[in-house]
Parts: sequence; structure tokens; C-alpha cells
Amino acid sequence: MLISWALPAQQLYQRTLKLMGSRFDITVVAQDSVSGNEYIDLAVDEISRIEKLISSWDPDSETSEINRNAGIRPVNVDEELYGLIDRALAIARLTDGAFDITYASMDRIWKFDGSMTRKPSEEEVAASVSLVGYERVVMNAEEHSVYLPEKGMKIGFGGIGKGYAADKAKALLMSRGVSGGIVNASGDMNTWGNPPDGDAWKIAITNPVRKNNIFAALPVTERAVVTSGDYERFVMFDGIRYSHIINPKTGYPATGIISVTVLAPRAELADALATSVFVMGAEVGLDRIEQLPGVECIIVDDRGEVHSTTNIKLETQ
Ligand code: ADP
Ligand code: MG
Repeated sequence: MLISWALPAQQLYQRTLKLMGSRFDITVVAQDSVSGNEYIDLAVDEISRIEKLISSWDPDSETSEINRNAGIRPVNVDEELYGLIDRALAIARLTDGAFDITYASMDRIWKFDGSMTRKPSEEEVAASVSLVGYERVVMNAEEHSVYLPEKGMKIGFGGIGKGYAADKAKALLMSRGVSGGIVNASGDMNTWGNPPDGDAWKIAITNPVRKNNIFAALPVTERAVVTSGDYERFVMFDGIRYSHIINPKTGYPATGIISVTVLAPRAELADALATSVFVMGAEVGLDRIEQLPGVECIIVDDRGEVHSTTNIKLETQ
């Protein structure tokens, strides 16, 4: 006898929590709340694991070990971290150094946690910039070792780590058979599959000028959407707003752009490119992104003007 029964309808399960110092919203499609929660737990474990690998605050991370040994010796690292650094250096070359993980030595002079009391002097900025330079990172593929050749040099994954974590959490859940979901790391998100009641996730992009207004709702399938904006972390000196994205060549925070949204196949790339566009500026940034196949972007400049690559169709509301 053939027994058939209807499967319970798939539903969305969601959790919001703080990981990597940021808000994460994890959404999965699942049959019931037990499996939905199990999947979300898996994603949380994966993101925590990555945080331990790439955090430059955690003294026990391999990243901290590389930084501690700057000017001293190469450090052998896990294949995963080696790969991430290697790809970050490739993005640095792609963006002529606008994106540069060695920006991190400037963490000592620019702090965006409210602790800065004065603007750094020109001398301090110049001394700090002299320690920046992705071309100087020595990679040894055979030994999986990474060497920062000068004392005081430092790498940091603030501009790529959340995107990487979103990609890895997505990949893990897909491998466990989760049919759809969104991993959203404070605006750096990757999506897969589709919601139970439709054929595409709709990603709302808020207008940074009028924060409560959604200005675009983009239908997204199998793609990453990442937004970088300076409206959350910045410092003010003499009425000038300094954003947390720093131009590695000048040592001063990037100006002229309020927010950048990048769509790409992977969140890691989108995250790094969004950071780069801030540094490159609207015109150069748009031009550069236009040349990359499968990558789109939307830029809002500090006059409130919106610039986007030709394939973007904004459903402005
Ligand atoms: P958010 O998504 O929080 O706006 P971004 O992805 O734009 O952040 O990255 C900003 C972070 O990247 C900074 O807080 C800092 O940690 C790091 N960063 C700043 N300037 C650069 C740079 N030129 N290249 C790479 N990383 C940078
Ligand atoms: Mg970024």
C-alpha cells in the first residue's frame, strides 16, 4: 500500500545575536522549530570559530600571533587563515591598495569607539602610514607562513571578516541541506535558496540620508549584498566627520561617501569591495566595479546623490 502525506509547510526561523562584536541576524527555512534552531546553532558555532581565528583583539588568535611577531619571524598558520590573507592581498592588488588589511597599524591612532579625545597630529599619521603596505606582507605557500617584516606592522580583518563569516555560515548550512536562508552580519549578508512563499529574498536597503526610509528593495537570489556606511562609526573634530574607513595611502579617513552597497557572488568579496569604494571615491569606485563581472554597486555620496552600476534596477519607494 502506498501511503502519502503532506509534509508540514516550510517556515522561516530567525535569531538575532551579537557575534564578532556586531549584530547578526540568521534566518533559515526549516520544517519545524527544532530543526530551525539546530541549524541556527550550527551557524552560530561556525561564526564563533571564525572569530577565534581572525580576531585581532583575542591574544590567542593566529592573527594576533602574526601581529605580535611583526619584524621578528614568520608565523605558520592554519590553511584557512592563510587562504583568507592571500585573497585579501589579491583584493588589495585589484583595488590598487584602497583595500589593505595592513591598514590595522592605524588602529593605534584612529579609534572609533568613543575613546579619541583629539585628532592625531600629522607626524603621528605619517609614522603610522609608514607601517602600512600590503605589498610587504611575505607569504610562504609551502609553509603556510605569514610574515610582517617591520615591527609595528599589523593586519586586521574589519573590512572583510564579517563577509567571510557570512559566506562560511551559508556554505555550512547549505551542506546540511538547508534549502534557503540569509546570514546578515550587520548589513553584510549572503543569501541562498528562496523564502517558503516566494522565489526571491527581498533585501531592503535603507536610505542612509533618511534612516527610516527604505529606498530600495532588491530581489536577491544566491547572492551576497553588503552595505558599508559611515553613519554608525565615526569621530568628529572641528565639525568634520571622520569615518572608520581609512585611506591607506594618506592615513586619513575616507570622505565624500555616506554609504556603499555591493552585490557580488560572495560576501567576502562584496565586503572588501564596499570598503574599497569608500576609499576610491564615487567616480573611480563605480568605474572599477563596473568592470568586474557579476558585481554591482550602489553609492550614496555626501550630497545625497545616488550612483549605481548599469545593471542595478532600483525599485525606489
Ligand atoms: P562596516 O560594514 O562595519 O561599515 P566595513 O566593511 O566598511 O565595515 O569595514 C570597515 C572596517 O574595515 C573598519 O572598521 C576597519 O576595521 C577596516 N578598515 C578600515 N579601513 C580599511 C582599509 N582601507 N582596508 C581594509 N580594511 C579597512
Ligand atoms: Mg567591508
